[in-house]
Amino acid sequence: MKSLAMCVCCLAVSKATIVGTMEHALKTRLLADAARRAGNFLALSDSSPVFPAPEPLGALARFSEDLPSDPADPESVLAHLDEFGSPAAVRYDSGRYFGFVMGSSEPVATAASVLSAAWDQNVALPVMSPVGARLDAIAARWVCELLGLPGSATATFCSGASIANLTCILAARDALLARAGWDVRENGLCGAPPVNVVASEEIHVSVLKALRVAGIGEKAITFIETDELGRMRVDALPETDSMTMALLQAGNVNTGHSDPFIDIIPRVRSSGGWVHVDGAFGLWAAASPRRAQQVEGVHLADSWATDSHKWLNAPYDAGIAICAREEDLRYAMAIDAAYLKTDSDRALMHLSLQMSQRARAIETWAIIAAKGRSGVAAMIDNNCDLAERMARRLCEGGATLLAPVGLNQVLVSFGENETDRVIARVQEEGTCWVGGTTWKGERAMRLSLSDASMTEADIDRSAESILRSWHRTRM
Ligand SMILES: *Cc1c(COP(=O)(O)O)cnc(C)c1O
Repeated sequence: MKSLAMCVCCLAVSKATIVGTMEHALKTRLLADAARRAGNFLALSDSSPVFPAPEPLGALARFSEDLPSDPADPESVLAHLDEFGSPAAVRYDSGRYFGFVMGSSEPVATAASVLSAAWDQNVALPVMSPVGARLDAIAARWVCELLGLPGSATATFCSGASIANLTCILAARDALLARAGWDVRENGLCGAPPVNVVASEEIHVSVLKALRVAGIGEKAITFIETDELGRMRVDALPETDSMTMALLQAGNVNTGHSDPFIDIIPRVRSSGGWVHVDGAFGLWAAASPRRAQQVEGVHLADSWATDSHKWLNAPYDAGIAICAREEDLRYAMAIDAAYLKTDSDRALMHLSLQMSQRARAIETWAIIAAKGRSGVAAMIDNNCDLAERMARRLCEGGATLLAPVGLNQVLVSFGENETDRVIARVQEEGTCWVGGTTWKGERAMRLSLSDASMTEADIDRSAESILRSWHRTRM
């Protein structure tokens, strides 16, 4: 208010400053309040069920569907969000959430996310955010180095592995066609030479969706048989050529095992084809000297899709698309408009599907900065070791392991007619959360260990709950 006492000619400026200051003061107050509420939420982690109970789920009705006609006090909006939202949030960070493939968020990443939310940077072009551009470039390089990918490789951040798969498949499609003398950018796809896809019959559905979006229909796909661990069978691989797009997988969502890259990639590439690897979570095995051999040869591919938000334990949403040659990515993604011209090599809007995009790399940067190479490896190894422990505990209790543990995935059966009932019981009890799947025609319980905060105590407590639930279904 002191500035109001200044001369009249300063008055207009001062008023604007005061309004600005009030906005910032409100934001600061709200952020402090949010941090306090988040702290309370985290403090209850151990005593809360992993999946919210019926009561907080019912209270979600307190989020009214009626469009508010007038402004409300932002502090009461935040209080309402906390009162009815926090008790209904699923606890991925409990150490006892085994559903799907869900990492939690590393402490430093959550905090970096809050700080960068205050920054609110757009990294479409470096000039829009020098700090965002610098951290993005560093994180992209670190990820490639951790994963043992070639020095020439270029990584860009996107919303998840689905979009990373799409990005890479578009780059593959355009590059294969360009090499055959067909410019997709000019001619589109009508009349283009056909691209032949070979994919594991176990390929993830997001890859099939990406193909569809890329204008490559199911008739163009040859599905290759897999072995008992869900790995592509090398002897079932057909002849490939310069119009082949081979889609491989690091980390089967059920078994955790990977395709035999070392036997397949050189063969496809020497015929002129493109190899893309979906390694949403499994590619991170390459960051651990103890597990890298499970994805041996993966670095030989042309492109890779992975996530930070699963096994690296970055907050949602963060996927990573990586191409061995930057020019392939640029050819598929760059657009032309005078006002968007840039002198920079690494203008993200010309290397990714999005134009405006939040500086998603920041959380990944923070995690790697805090852990270093050995810390990331330890994080991967911890989940893999605990997966072995979980499998041992469940088998000691009488469950049947349906596949040897691959990386962080555990697949067990409690008998064909009982497995789904056990899963439902476990979910009801709330100590931990597990999901189901069908593996080689049989119903199975699948456990994915992706939360970095998991401990041996979490595993033992969860295994007890699962076995207890099984015994109850038999009473
Ligand atoms: C999760 C997953 C995807 C999809 O990733 P999103 O980040 O959810 O889009 C693709 N492939 C595999 C193997 C996955 O586990």
